[in-house]
Amino acid sequence: MRDQIVAGNWKMNNDHRETEILLNALAVHSKPKDVRVMVAPSFTQLSQSIDLLKNDSIKVVAQNMNAAASGAYTGEVSAAMLKGVGVTTVVLGHSERRSLYHENNSSLSEKVKTAIAEGMEIIFCFGEQLEERKTDRHFEVVKDQLSEALFALPEAAWEHIILAYEPVWAIGTGETASPAQAQEMHAFIRSLIVERYSLSLANEIAILYGGSVKPSNAKEIFSMEDVDGGLIGGASLNAEDFMAIVNAF
Ligand code: PEP
Repeated sequence: MRDQIVAGNWKMNNDHRETEILLNALAVHSKPKDVRVMVAPSFTQLSQSIDLLKNDSIKVVAQNMNAAASGAYTGEVSAAMLKGVGVTTVVLGHSERRSLYHENNSSLSEKVKTAIAEGMEIIFCFGEQLEERKTDRHFEVVKDQLSEALFALPEAAWEHIILAYEPVWAIGTGETASPAQAQEMHAFIRSLIVERYSLSLANEIAILYGGSVKPSNAKEIFSMEDVDGGLIGGASLNAEDFMAIVNAF
């Protein structure tokens, strides 16, 4: 049975006080035993979040990290620094990192290698732009993203990886991929893993869907055979909405 996962990507939201309010509100909810729940605060709130959640099953993850171990990378944070504060999972390749900070499949493959060498778990994001879907290139784009960033890894390294398919046109737009569109792409992703690796790996890998998931649509999306949960942006900033999504399986 694959992991069921709901991860909240807070992006650049929630200062010290807001983090305390939101995490305290999440902590009072009981969590389903069979769902891994994660939140990704800003770097500055990681230690605080770990402290606030020390008696809770919610896991604190980082939104990004640098591929280098240390050095002249002003403003950056290394894997060892994350581990030093107790963070062992990192989101890599979010579309905002790709579009605003020019991350690409090649630079992401370096980050992935570092994260794996450091024993970290990765939520690897990828997905097509609107124009690519409109011109029917979404399968090709996703195949390239996975091939270039991940398919040089040996099969054993995939125990560190959670995939998050996030069609860019559905992120923060209120527009969601239909459950059938999500299922179609997730099944395609599994077929790529069968082709490159093995059926057993394809069956084990958790593939999350991200893009305007809300309490009103989560159940239908999560009911799709190849959708193992969600990466949630906007709705993760509200405790009631986020917990409704966590309980939508
Ligand atoms: C995201 O940022 O990964 C995301 C899916 O955002 P939203 O849920 O707001 O579309």
